Amino acid sequence: EIKQSTRNGFCLFNREMNLRVRNSLRIDASLRLALERNELRVVFQPIVDANSRRVMKAEALLRWHNPELGHIPPDRFIPLAEETGQIVAIGAWVLEESCRQLLILQAQRGDGLPLMMSVNVSARQLSEPDFAASVAQTAERFGVPPHQLELELTERILVDDNPVVHDNIRALDALGVSLSLDDFGTGYSSLSYLTRFPLDTVKLDRSFVQDIDSNPQSLQLATAVIAMCSSLGLALVAEGVENGAQAELLHSRGCGYLQGYHFGRPVAPEELARVPGFVSESALNVA
Ligand code: C2E
Ligand code: MG
Ligand code: MG
Ligand code: MG
Repeated sequence: EIKQSTRNGFCLFNREMNLRVRNSLRIDASLRLALERNELRVVFQPIVDANSRRVMKAEALLRWHNPELGHIPPDRFIPLAEETGQIVAIGAWVLEESCRQLLILQAQRGDGLPLMMSVNVSARQLSEPDFAASVAQTAERFGVPPHQLELELTERILVDDNPVVHDNIRALDALGVSLSLDDFGTGYSSLSYLTRFPLDTVKLDRSFVQDIDSNPQSLQLATAVIAMCSSLGLALVAEGVENGAQAELLHSRGCGYLQGYHFGRPVAPEELARVPGFVSESALNVA
């Protein structure tokens, strides 16, 4: 009986694996051409100051539309691109595109309030010995001050003790680039990462935000994370803020930055400049 169910389980697993491998191969082959065929683009999501409600940062998020495969979400193709190493070239392109757009966006602010550009980076990129140098080079080539760049890392990157990763992180920090820990609370959640690495910002994962307005325990948890980050001198961004009640609660508990559909979805750069709080009040009055 046990044998039977095991065998069935195994067969099912096999078929599904097969399908997934074949799908992955198709995506992989198409992704190889995506860059040169201009199928990739970067959209930008606002991150607002909880107090002033000004847009302080924009997170660059990759989008891929293939004529045959349609829209493929980043959660599908980025893991593949990491496995094949294509993420190194793609990631370099995302950084260039983000720097290019940052200059255009910054010029539209009205006041000189610096906009930070947050770019997600994968483990594979940080494992390249020349990664920090290439970031420095890109920033210089586009005339972007390194302190207006923020790189979002996940705990998965920090967990394996790769000396190359550590060297890159140190070099980026020395360069003045900000570092943030993405999806906080979902990974290994070893709190020691918060002090062992030169992080500036922690991003509280959406799963810890989504029911703070309905579940008192979730609110307690978020409140504790806010207090911990504040005492460690780390800025905190709450991800996935979808309504005004969540925004108010997080603000009242001392969370500094808010990101989510309530403030704006990821949009084309031209649209980001129209998000409330992007352009200064006074510049709007003049116009
Ligand atoms: P992430 O870095 O945690 O990005 C946040 C994700 O949450 C984005 O999904 C964003 O569209 C979504 N999001 C933002 N606000 C809300 C909200 O209020 N509600 C809900 N339900 N979702 C919200 P997206 O764009 O599909 O990206 C998924 C993941 O793919 C990212 O998670 C990031 O890990 C990865 N990714 C995206 N672009 C890049 C990239 O250029 N390089 C790398 N290495 N990874 C990337
Ligand atoms: Mg991110
Ligand atoms: Mg930081
Ligand atoms: Mg995240």
